[in-house]
Amino acid sequence: MIRTGIGYDAHQLGYDYPLIIGGVKIPSKKGSIGHSDGDVLSHSIVDAMLGSLSLGDIGKYFPSSEQKWKDKSSLFFLKKANQLIIDKGYKINNIDSTIILQEPKISNYVHKIIKKISSEIHIPSDNVSVKLTTKDMLGFHKNSSGIEALAIITVSN
Ligand code: ZN
Repeated sequence: MIRTGIGYDAHQLGYDYPLIIGGVKIPSKKGSIGHSDGDVLSHSIVDAMLGSLSLGDIGKYFPSSEQKWKDKSSLFFLKKANQLIIDKGYKINNIDSTIILQEPKISNYVHKIIKKISSEIHIPSDNVSVKLTTKDMLGFHKNSSGIEALAIITVSN
């Protein structure tokens, strides 16, 4: 049986915060404001992973109201969600994702992000896709005050 899941996440960007995307720290004037490390890509992938098996969403497992998730690396959430999929007898076939960000330009980091995500969840890097786009300065992207990410995954048993 093949199942699919989608995920979406958004965070505010602010000065003096680190910008961490897919577990990779990227040099930037502004970073992601979030309760954990604000890793928008990892959060959207986790939601897609959980959604693929109707397991709820990231807030169910890692509520931002809980102090223990503060400043936690989102790679931990990725690994945990992957384990839930394995526990259900499924495995991830592939992940496709899109990051929506006006600046900084992060194309030089995509390869590193793919490597990081694929190694954390033990799937070939060919099965992880990370695409980049902007929103043409629309909405909160006009002042680079936000970052968004979308993810879709397929799993099979
Ligand atoms: Zn998030």
